[in-house]
Amino acid sequence: MATKTCTKCGRSLPISEFAKEKKGLYGIRSQCRECEKERLKKFYQGTKEARVEAMLKHRYGITLDAYRSMLLDQEGCCFICGKETELVVDHETGQVRALLCRNCNVLLGVAHEDPFILAAAIQYLEMFDRAVEDREA
Ligand SMILES: [Zn+2]
Ligand SMILES: [Zn+2]
Repeated sequence: MATKTCTKCGRSLPISEFAKEKKGLYGIRSQCRECEKERLKKFYQGTKEARVEAMLKHRYGITLDAYRSMLLDQEGCCFICGKETELVVDHETGQVRALLCRNCNVLLGVAHEDPFILAAAIQYLEMFDRAVEDREA
């Protein structure tokens, strides 16, 4: 059986373990499929991180490191509800505040970021709670 030595891992493998390459000297790649897969995985991880970094910079003007330290500060939990979930950067007029879950971020948005509306909402909920308690008593 025809074999070829992978230039990456140095293993001598059957030709079928190498992907076809039109431009290659032997019509196959110099690295085995496994090494190729590893390489692509690393490449994509790299681009993903770079993309996230670029997005953070562009949208919030912060670095990936800054984002990670915020994440660490909040122990990966939402600043408001404390849920451990996917977090978004809460930013108001270009100033990054904290990391929130999507729900809490939306909550602030629909309340127009108005503390009075949110305080009134709390009052409303408490009033309703008390009414329920009175009924049950
Ligand atoms: Zn290999
Ligand atoms: Zn939350």
